[in-house]
Amino acid sequence: MFLGELKEPVTKLKGVGPAAAYNLSRLGIVDIRTLLCHYPRDWEDRSRIQLLKDWNSGRVCTEVHVLAHDWFGFGRTKTLKIYVEDSSARACLVCFNRPFLGRQLPVGIKCRLYGQFYYRYGELQSSSFEVEPVFKGSGEGPIPILPIYALSKGLTQVFIRKLVRQAINLYSHVLENELPERIINRDGLFHKTDSIKAIHFPSSQECLSRAQKTLVYEELFYLEIMVCKRMMQRKSSAQQKATSQRGEFSPLQSRLLERIPFSLTPGQGTAIKEINLSMDDPFPMARLLQGDVGSGKTLVSFLAALRAINKGGQAALMAPTELLARQHAENAARYLEPMGIRLAFLTGNLKSNERALLLSALAAGEIDLVTGTHALFSRDVLYKDLAFVVVDEQHRFGVLQRQAIMAKGKGPSLLMMSSTPIPRSLALTVFGDLDVSVIKDMPPGRKPVRTHLARESNESKVYEFVRNVLKDGHQAYFVYPLIEGGDESELKDAVFMAERLKKEVFPGIPLALLHSKVDEEEKRQTMENFRRGDIKILAATSVVEVGVDVPNATCMVIEHAERFGLSALHQLRGRVGRGEDQSYCFLVYSDNLGEDGKQRLKVMMENSDGFIIAEEDLKLRGPGQIAGIEQSGYLKLGIADPVRDIVQLDKAREDAFGILESDPSLVQSENHCIAQVLKRAPPSAGVEF
Ligand code: ADP
Ligand code: MG
Repeated sequence: MFLGELKEPVTKLKGVGPAAAYNLSRLGIVDIRTLLCHYPRDWEDRSRIQLLKDWNSGRVCTEVHVLAHDWFGFGRTKTLKIYVEDSSARACLVCFNRPFLGRQLPVGIKCRLYGQFYYRYGELQSSSFEVEPVFKGSGEGPIPILPIYALSKGLTQVFIRKLVRQAINLYSHVLENELPERIINRDGLFHKTDSIKAIHFPSSQECLSRAQKTLVYEELFYLEIMVCKRMMQRKSSAQQKATSQRGEFSPLQSRLLERIPFSLTPGQGTAIKEINLSMDDPFPMARLLQGDVGSGKTLVSFLAALRAINKGGQAALMAPTELLARQHAENAARYLEPMGIRLAFLTGNLKSNERALLLSALAAGEIDLVTGTHALFSRDVLYKDLAFVVVDEQHRFGVLQRQAIMAKGKGPSLLMMSSTPIPRSLALTVFGDLDVSVIKDMPPGRKPVRTHLARESNESKVYEFVRNVLKDGHQAYFVYPLIEGGDESELKDAVFMAERLKKEVFPGIPLALLHSKVDEEEKRQTMENFRRGDIKILAATSVVEVGVDVPNATCMVIEHAERFGLSALHQLRGRVGRGEDQSYCFLVYSDNLGEDGKQRLKVMMENSDGFIIAEEDLKLRGPGQIAGIEQSGYLKLGIADPVRDIVQLDKAREDAFGILESDPSLVQSENHCIAQVLKRAPPSAGVEF
């Protein structure tokens, strides 16, 4: 049996009633499989004793006797105190929300204690501790390495350990390997049964690392199996016919190129050539277009859309915010409408009669290109023939949202755009099945943004500088980490500062406030006025982070810059430097700047290349945090880390691709069936082990 098949509910285990089942379900534990896959988040090596008297030099780990019980407080706040003693000292365990410990630890019992202690009210106390009775017979053996699990309310380490132990005793012997025997032997990995036992209750550190290595590899192997399957499925679902003029500009594309007042940058040129070629393939394109902020990805996406429209299909361009969607719609209106392309703009804020009209036009095929927000894939939105989908700032969308829009067509081509460059190691895991185009250059005439650091206490100098920039007719952004701060907040916020800038700092200069709570109509007006130059200063939160394009704005002041992540800082800085004039970015930092913040500001001062900044970001924060990758559900990894485990990842990829390519029939199989086949297939069956 495979672990994935152990679907018996946790309630089958002793000690799991409805309440515990509910608490477990909040951790995603519903059956034996999810229980055994609830890997510890840490392990405590309790073979090292630390007596109570040494509480000051780290976590206490010792054996104690229970001396007495006591209570303090009344009613709901009544709290149990348990007095204990080891060979060196006495201490008090304060059992907040754990009255049941009284029953588990009667006076006189011997238990193993582990916790963090402090001195309070003249006694040694702990409220964050773990304690487990030592029963006769089990007490004197070697003290094991104990798993520490993620918990939810109402659950204890002891309880989960008991359950896992039970499940291991009952089920682990039936577990079959999911990795080919050949790989297990080659890399000195554990068999499945042993790896599950050892990840929860390792007998030694070596045993633990071998279990980790096995499970990490297994996870990456199946990740790459999935990536490879997706790639092969896509290439086999032939939809379109190859045309004779493969890759050449289509008539509509050529017309747009004649209309724009500039020529493509070499990077844009290469990208559109690559796109044209794969759009002429007999299977739908799936491509990631990476290019730093301001590199001109929108134009490339318009050109690609025109190719699909030329072939008689419809195109949809989806952006993460209404602001950005509107900007795309306006650009489309400027460049594409005069060419006779039929456009529509669809967001959640449309009046119902307008919406009805628009939807029927879409369904009738009377619209060629629709731009919008996630409203584009609402249930009632139907397309006649959606052939091409652009997802702008794709990291803002989840996998499900992308699937939802793709499901609106019959295998449409997909172009995902990202101005948050993704480091190679991550791209390989996450987008392993995509083709990638990269625009490395910028439109000509751009001068690199000059970045300056300023202490908060020196901000009047920054204001002075901005005043001069405004005098020259340019515009500026001021960005704050919060919309509105509470009274006790030390941070400047957008609402408060907008007032202050308007009244005290730049009196008489038109200023507007922009943040996510401003209503859409007002946002639209504000952006339009800012773009037209009627508004000179935009005081905002990071809503301006994504995609906003106003070339005359040449100053970006980011207050409390240390509060922003690197990718946000890079995006914000990318809002300026979009025209031919010299632009400036001021990173204003608080006087009490932490080490983290200092590091990030340093990276920003020293780099302008988004790829390098992304790599630095990865180093500083780890992959889960990068540009919302985790939230957007790309990485559903439980134990592997594509950055730390990059070497394993490469190997897993090679193994997985090798296996599927040598036996394409596996592509249709579920993962556990693949495991089955891998297990059974004799070496002569075409799968090489
Ligand atoms: P991003 O890649 O960040 O989405 P945009 O598509 O918003 O960048 O383009 C940024 C600006 O550059 C826009 O004002 C656009 O009109 C302009 N632009 C795009 N391509 C070129 C080009 N080849 N030459 C000059 N300007 C260009
Ligand atoms: Mg953009």
